[in-house]
Amino acid sequence: DSKNIVLNVNGIEVIYNHVILVLKGVSLSVPEGGIVALLGGNGAGKTTTLRAISNLLQGERGEVTKGAITLRGERIDNLTPAELVQRGVVQVMEGRHCFAHLTIEENLLTGAYTRKNKGEIAANLDKVYTYFPRLKTRRHSQAAYTSGGEQQMCAIGRALMTQPSVVLLDEPSMGLAPQIVEEVFHIVKDLNEKEKVTFLLAEQNTHMALQYADYGYIMESGRVVMDGPAADLANNEDVKEFYLGMG
Ligand code: ATP
Repeated sequence: DSKNIVLNVNGIEVIYNHVILVLKGVSLSVPEGGIVALLGGNGAGKTTTLRAISNLLQGERGEVTKGAITLRGERIDNLTPAELVQRGVVQVMEGRHCFAHLTIEENLLTGAYTRKNKGEIAANLDKVYTYFPRLKTRRHSQAAYTSGGEQQMCAIGRALMTQPSVVLLDEPSMGLAPQIVEEVFHIVKDLNEKEKVTFLLAEQNTHMALQYADYGYIMESGRVVMDGPAADLANNEDVKEFYLGMG
């Protein structure tokens, strides 16, 4: 039922530096209120796919040369990242990207810089703190002195300060201890269920992602090679052998 699709990517190609074809016709859809995982190894094209959606390829000398991206049926391919944020689509980049010199709270507030209603912003901040109690404890600490997990939470929290409907989350598990990865995914699930935030997340940690996602797409060399409900993928023999290390 395509009417519940919030984000649709249809046959996109991405070329870097005018010559290197990196995405070779990628299609995927994300249902309203879903958690969709983009899986695959290093260099498969997950980050490029997210950047194509959030129009962050330019800085990387990349461009979408074919295909279409729609949000609730409307083309969004030519919107700037800021316009996308206004429509509720925000990306949390790989590697966390907090402002090192700002405190956790200042970082969170940068997510609300275009908003004016102080009361709403304060309420939003409180809400972020209810989901991320660690951030509340650390709110006056400079981001540079917080842990990797806290910085990842801060990056997600800052995205939430834009009041998004769709969050693109790039490798939330990167560089984090398993227990912290679990904590981050748990909060993502909570936000999905209680705040109805839709997530498209790129992950190399197939095992963890399939535990929390509803649906998954597996990428290899710039193509989607398999997709299905998360439970089916987790039980698929090829997936077990190649991505879950249980072959
Ligand atoms: P990772 O988990 O390492 O981020 P990925 O699945 O997200 O992997 P991408 O980062 O999208 O993969 O990279 C896909 C391919 O595009 C790789 O072959 C990579 O070398 C290439 N690539 C990425 N960025 C650029 C760039 N700015 N210029 C040229 N090639 C690039």
